Amino acid sequence: MGATGSGKSRLAIDLATRFQTEIINSDKIQVYKGLDVLTNKVTPQECRGVPHHLLGVFDSEAGNLTTTNFCRLASQEISTLSANNKLPIVAGGSNSYIEALANHSSGFLLNKYQCCFIWVDVSLPVLNSFVSKRVDRMMDAGLLEEVREVHDPKADYSVGIRRAIGVPELHEYLCYESLVDRATQRKMLDAAVKKIKENTEILACRQLLKIQRLSKKWKLSMHRVDATEVFLKRNEEEADEAWENLVARPTKRIVDKFCDN
Ligand code: ATP
Repeated sequence: MGATGSGKSRLAIDLATRFQTEIINSDKIQVYKGLDVLTNKVTPQECRGVPHHLLGVFDSEAGNLTTTNFCRLASQEISTLSANNKLPIVAGGSNSYIEALANHSSGFLLNKYQCCFIWVDVSLPVLNSFVSKRVDRMMDAGLLEEVREVHDPKADYSVGIRRAIGVPELHEYLCYESLVDRATQRKMLDAAVKKIKENTEILACRQLLKIQRLSKKWKLSMHRVDATEVFLKRNEEEADEAWENLVARPTKRIVDKFCDN
């Protein structure tokens, strides 16, 4: 678990590599096909060969993947992995999905399996500055063109992938870009990018509050790992080293201990 941008996908891949297992995605937007840049899905290169389930597989036009359906599908994946003697790793920022899964119907996860919750925490001001730069990188990587492809003035923004931060924010720009001059276009686009950054910061803050609540609820099985230092390093090499020492290795020890019990 962790707020957007905290590094939970990377940690899940580190753990899956170490424990030779697979990952079940629990991000309620990344479950849908499309908008890979905007929703920050892991790339094949980042996956390092680790299979991911429920990631980018649902057609958004078919409607929302309800929490109940997510729980049913994730439970099936967990059962299959367990039956194959693999440690199921559930990774993603949607706390409503995770909370429902842990308490699913007859207390599915918490009664049937022992759970080890890992929370990758990053100080909010540090995370906000990272996320703001990430939005700029997404713009360079083709965010606008991606959103243009799903843009439909008549579409319902409360359904599926169009709920992703970035789609509603670019709506006005995409409706009017062909009607205004270049300077106005630039102004409108800058305003939309600013709004995307603001809304991502709000999302991170809300996710953090929910995780704090869950950490009280699941006190005994919750492990907080502070990744803030990683984000403060000056270059990639130092950041990678800090990640290994402060996040990846300590978490592997936590999971080793969990598996030994
Ligand atoms: P809520 O009950 O508020 O929906 P949640 O825990 O179920 O909370 P979150 O993952 O916090 O779900 O997502 C809330 C909203 O944030 C989504 O509906 C979407 O608008 C946006 N969002 C979440 N994840 C992403 C993502 N990966 N990319 C873009 N937008 C996202």
